[in-house]
Amino acid sequence: MTFALPAAEAQALLDATLRGELPDDRGRFGPFGGRYVPETLVPAFERLEQGVREHLHDAGFQAEFQRELREWVGRPTALTHAPRLSEHWGTEVWLKREDLAHTGAHKINNAIGQALLAKRLGARRVIAETGAGQHGVASAAACARVGLPCAVYMGAVDIERQAPNVDRMKRLGADVIAVETGDKTLRAAIDEALREWVTDPAGIYYLLGSAVGAHPYPYLVRELQSVIGEEARQQMIDQAGGLPDAVFACVGGGSNAIGLFYPLLGDDIELIGVEAGGTGDGLGQNAATLATGTPGVLQGAYTMILQDADGQVQETHSISAGLDYSGVGPEHALLQATGRVTYVSANDADSLAALEELCATEGVLTALETAHAYAYAREWSSRNPGKRILIGNSGRGDKDMPTLTRYPVRSGSHGGA
Ligand SMILES: *Cc1c(COP(=O)(O)O)cnc(C)c1O
Repeated sequence: MTFALPAAEAQALLDATLRGELPDDRGRFGPFGGRYVPETLVPAFERLEQGVREHLHDAGFQAEFQRELREWVGRPTALTHAPRLSEHWGTEVWLKREDLAHTGAHKINNAIGQALLAKRLGARRVIAETGAGQHGVASAAACARVGLPCAVYMGAVDIERQAPNVDRMKRLGADVIAVETGDKTLRAAIDEALREWVTDPAGIYYLLGSAVGAHPYPYLVRELQSVIGEEARQQMIDQAGGLPDAVFACVGGGSNAIGLFYPLLGDDIELIGVEAGGTGDGLGQNAATLATGTPGVLQGAYTMILQDADGQVQETHSISAGLDYSGVGPEHALLQATGRVTYVSANDADSLAALEELCATEGVLTALETAHAYAYAREWSSRNPGKRILIGNSGRGDKDMPTLTRYPVRSGSHGGA
């Protein structure tokens, strides 16, 4: 059951996307997106929208952003051919290595971009939310870099589960604020950060971590992350001799996926987003928002969400903390509804197996989030031999060692073919 638009409307919205006209001036991606926030938050969002319009595409800001990406983040990240994995799968596999970016994932592209924007807007401090802690670490590092104090809201449950990242944030100079309200995880952390933002929208900059929420965040984060797809497109031409037939990315909130897909939307390439299939298809057993959810409003945007028949938002489950969210960026909801991008899911067990295979064949320990893209790409390859594919390797797996240690390496997976 997938939400689909009538063909003519879908085509018109895709054309508008390719012309760069979405989101529209109300922040909408066709029927999705927008800004569904309480009256008290409107001034803060309007101020931010104005700031984005003024600075994001300004030549001076872009020069500064590009310099930080190059000299501090370490871009461009490599495009890596994966010959041994290719042999296993029967397809020609290429990896876009966001794991090689500073702090170990794509999240830093967005964090440094927004930290620079905060500076331009004259903010005195930055607040951010985090679930697993990865965005908190990226935000803390970016704020240290630009010289702004940073406070990271984090659910009490997550603080318990992610102790190493809490320590990392503190060492990078951030205050970590424990959130004891609501579900005490990511959703509650976002709500608390918004609550503080309202108290001083001119002095505080809210650095949101994915392409989700009310306008202008989905647009802002897409623009900052599109560097992934822009680099990958050129690298495929230069190194592989042409564009891929299919591209895979994992989808939590959807920031690494939109960053990789957006610059490729106009090409004749199959684009596939892979969500967390968890342990099963039932509500609460996965985080497959697009693959199994329904339209509704969550945290300021009309998008696809996991909710029950009464509209109660559901808890999610995934082996990877970074995919464990009951909503998704509204632009992905549009791309699904137009049929341009296909969204599927991979379960915990297959993702673990794919992670192991990548380690053994290419010497790359990928993040558990990213492993979902590999799990589905592997299955897709078995049905599409001889194709050339690109996988968005969104982050490194070192942070996942405490989880991985619970699953012993299967004997014989390393060594020769
Ligand atoms: C946070 C994270 C994700 C999920 O976030 P998106 O916004 O969907 O990209 C995926 N991969 C890694 C490595 C992450 O840290």
